[in-house]
Amino acid sequence: MRLDVVILGGGIAGLWLLARLRARGYRALLLEQAQLGAGQTLASQGIIHGGLKYAIDRKLGQDSAALADMPGRWRACLAGSGEINLGPGLLAAERHLFWARRNLASRMAGFFGSKLVRGRVETLPPEAWPAALRDPQHVGAVYALDECVLNVPALLARLLALNPAAIKQVSGETRLSMAEDHVVLDCLDGDGRPRRLQASHVVATAGAGNEALLARMGLAPALAQRRPLQMLLLDNAPAPLWAHCFDTSDKPRVTITTHHRRDGSLVWYVGGLLAEQGAGQDEATLIQAARREFAQLLPRLDFSRSRYAGLRVDRAEGATDDGSKPEGPVLRQPADWAGRCLLAWPTKLALAPQLADQVLAWLPVPAAADAAVDLADWAAPGIAAAPWDCAAWREAA
Ligand SMILES: Cc1cc2nc3c(=O)[nH]c(=O)nc-3n(C[C@H](O)[C@H](O)[C@H](O)COP(=O)(O)OP(=O)(O)OC[C@H]3O[C@@H](n4cnc5c(N)ncnc54)[C@H](O)[C@@H]3O)c2cc1C
Repeated sequence: MRLDVVILGGGIAGLWLLARLRARGYRALLLEQAQLGAGQTLASQGIIHGGLKYAIDRKLGQDSAALADMPGRWRACLAGSGEINLGPGLLAAERHLFWARRNLASRMAGFFGSKLVRGRVETLPPEAWPAALRDPQHVGAVYALDECVLNVPALLARLLALNPAAIKQVSGETRLSMAEDHVVLDCLDGDGRPRRLQASHVVATAGAGNEALLARMGLAPALAQRRPLQMLLLDNAPAPLWAHCFDTSDKPRVTITTHHRRDGSLVWYVGGLLAEQGAGQDEATLIQAARREFAQLLPRLDFSRSRYAGLRVDRAEGATDDGSKPEGPVLRQPADWAGRCLLAWPTKLALAPQLADQVLAWLPVPAAADAAVDLADWAAPGIAAAPWDCAAWREAA
């Protein structure tokens, strides 16, 4: 059987693209070599940024322009009126918050009153502040952003359920070769049986795995970059919270999202500057730094029952000249593959819809009238465990 498109990699970029392609009638198949979401997607905080975070240092560049539409597009999908019908029940939080410490609140008030952000942010009265931030001695202002937060494990399950027959497990690397007018893919399925596929086009959305694919397609590995983080996890969290704390830097000091472990307990998953600086620290140093941050930012909260863990994870992206974050999705086309292969990085989970638009613009219209893929004897991968369900917890020293 000749496929229109084979997608390599089942993170958000590949799964979103698959859903768009199948809805448009492409005979498309996705191959995943580990488990769905195993790379960055399940390690993400699930925030559908609208770009406001990047406007904080007063520059609304292309970066925030690329992100500005995203909350609306995702919300339409959740409401059943978007490009993919995700349906309800996938939000962890309706709105991400942003808090300013008491001594810096007036600086933030000027910014949030400015034309730059008007209509995209709401100042919350103290009675609407979440319990974790109700500490007027230390918290000076709380704002709600036009940004929602997704329950990423539930999102992955929903995307798998949209196209279960078109998502397949492979073990190890898939070998690619060019035939006259198509690409041949040789791989082993999840049971170790050899499989050969033919596809008019191949799109690699393999995250960090794109680096190995670049090398095999004859492209310089330098076309990809990684930006390392060490995220902080904290269990038995004092209260649910989805918020950035901004301070004097243009980056959030901490970005907190809340997740439920399988046993129902609450976990804070913490990024921001803490995690960027944590990349160069060992786990014990990160945990000490986190405890100092919380003692300073939210001293009224009780963390006495909390345990901690660090999670090292790289942001895998298309390369920029100076190693900074790309402005939007990055797509690269290797010259020797007759325009049949593409490597793609969304840069942000939020930008997966934009990446799919760009791939759709690159592809010819689908050849097959019938998008069905008949490979019933080839199993689908499962969904990987979320970081908070497989962390090695440490008692605080
Ligand atoms: C700590 C952290 C927090 C983040 N928080 C946010 C956030 O709040 N909001 C936001 O918008 N973005 C966030 N991001 C960015 C976001 O997570 C990524 O941009 C996005 O998940 C990348 O998705 P992807 O599908 O391209 O790659 P990945 O999620 O890395 O998926 C790649 C998949 O490809 C598979 N694979 C690898 N090699 C092969 C191969 N040869 N064949 C088949 N399969 C292969 C892997 O197993 C994996 O499943 C965050 C990133 C990190 C690291």
